[in-house]
Amino acid sequence: MNNSIPRVPRPANEPILGFAPGSPEKAALKAELARIRETKWDIPLYIGGKEIRTGRTAPLIRPDAKGEVLGQYHLAGEAEVQMAISAAKAAKAEWEAQPWEERAAVFLRMAELVTGKYRMALDAACMLGQSKTPYQAEIDAVCEVADFFRFNPVYMEEIYSNQPESGKAEWNRLAFRPLDGFVYAVTPFNFTSIAANLATAPAMMGNTVVWKPASSSILSNWILVKIYEEAGLPPGVINFVPGPGSIITKGVLASPDFAGLHFTGSTAVFQSLWRQIAEGLSRYKSYPRIVGETGGKDFIFADPSADVDALLVACLRGSMEYQGQKCSAASRLYVPKSLAPSFLPRLAAEMGKIPQGEITDFRNFMGAVIDEAAFDGIAAYLERAKKSPKAKILAGGGCDKSKGFYIQPTLIQAEDPHYETMEEELFGPVLTAYVYDDSDMDAAYSLVDSTSPYALTGAVWARDRRAITRGLAALRNAAGNLYVNDKPTGAVVGKQPFGGARASGTNDKAGSMLNLLRWASAGAIKENLAPPVAWSYPHMGEA
Ligand code: NAD
Repeated sequence: MNNSIPRVPRPANEPILGFAPGSPEKAALKAELARIRETKWDIPLYIGGKEIRTGRTAPLIRPDAKGEVLGQYHLAGEAEVQMAISAAKAAKAEWEAQPWEERAAVFLRMAELVTGKYRMALDAACMLGQSKTPYQAEIDAVCEVADFFRFNPVYMEEIYSNQPESGKAEWNRLAFRPLDGFVYAVTPFNFTSIAANLATAPAMMGNTVVWKPASSSILSNWILVKIYEEAGLPPGVINFVPGPGSIITKGVLASPDFAGLHFTGSTAVFQSLWRQIAEGLSRYKSYPRIVGETGGKDFIFADPSADVDALLVACLRGSMEYQGQKCSAASRLYVPKSLAPSFLPRLAAEMGKIPQGEITDFRNFMGAVIDEAAFDGIAAYLERAKKSPKAKILAGGGCDKSKGFYIQPTLIQAEDPHYETMEEELFGPVLTAYVYDDSDMDAAYSLVDSTSPYALTGAVWARDRRAITRGLAALRNAAGNLYVNDKPTGAVVGKQPFGGARASGTNDKAGSMLNLLRWASAGAIKENLAPPVAWSYPHMGEA
């Protein structure tokens, strides 16, 4: 027993390596890419600290070179889901009884493994498995993962420090218990950091977790599992269960001990999970916590006073990095009539210069989209746009899946502000621009606010300060994360807590105390230091 009130080390965001020509990190990453490609991966489930190979497997395919199979991973079925639930339940008592600083230390150790020993492995696995360029892999699989592991313990300390007042001769305390049961984490393919955070944030707060990763990010996610083990996370605290979402969900939601869902992915899947939970409500010991971050239709709104040179860069980076597969990626652009004739042709010309190809060639700015289903879905939008009188393709529009799932960076101009690519989430490298009439700014803001059911991110571009004030007020409910004169992507843990409202999610802000609070159930304890010894009251002395 150390009899102290510990303070978590105050973190800084992990610096991003650049992989410039001739740099030592570039040589190290190239070597690691080769090592990972030479390895025949056979990735098991990981339940109760044990590797489980079911013999039912699926291949690990490189999206940008689809002929290259990196290996295989094993799929869970009903029996393994039950094993994972049992393992999570069995590990709970000991894990939640650990002093919180001992739990925090496990995650701080993980951050060092992520940024040290496993840095290149995470970068290379994220590049090969998820088709990210070196920079995109580094900001995700290394920097943001480490930031979650270093900042969340600080938020945990803040939560636990939050205590009520005490009156005379009493001591009031708040206990922040983990939820009464286990947490189900369902993670998306597009951010390794989200896969890390959704399972570890509840675990840090003393919960145990059944984690269903996305089928197209298994390689980087498996490296996380090995890091958790090496950092000393006890068996059963996080159970890694890849496999068909519907089967795993059915088993998990049937358990009375299901206590919370930590989800990131598409709006449709989240809504279907919420409905299933609602139907099972009478089964559960407590009302499950539901936290979900979902789709977006993120905007860039250019005021006539916008700095067009910087706006151009924001449009390109904000919409095309990681092939537009960020939930925060700009996918609708509003340009005033006064700027459009000069701005849109420039934007189209620059888009045409973007180098795209295999991510192992560091000169590329873009790789492929994640898989064939994603490719086919986006290609269908492009085909319809080519034929529609309401849309004009200004750049790109081509696609090719012969070697990998490549969609050209595409700029569409929509004549109708409600054209489908202005409203629906494509999750690909497609930016649709609409030219608005700047003689009626109120109508323009109202259009941005009401066009899409989502409210995740957005950016207002203006040099005129009055326009910024007006834009921020008019669009305050149109995004959970608003940017001024910046691209709408790239939120950083500890700096821009992330999450959207409306159809984009429950807005429980990953990378902040708000998210961690959802994984605790407060218990109030009142201790009377001088309990009364008489039961009558003074007014009872006379009539
Ligand atoms: P997805 O919804 O297809 O999949 C997310 C997860 O749900 C995966 O693990 C998947 O296997 C699982 N799943 C799918 N069907 C299921 C079912 N019936 N039952 C249980 N689980 C099921 O999403 P994705 O393609 O992996 O990710 C892209 C989506 O995620 C986009 O819509 C994007 O906007 C969103 N996203 C949102 C945020 C955010 O913070 N708001 C961040 C990243 C991604």
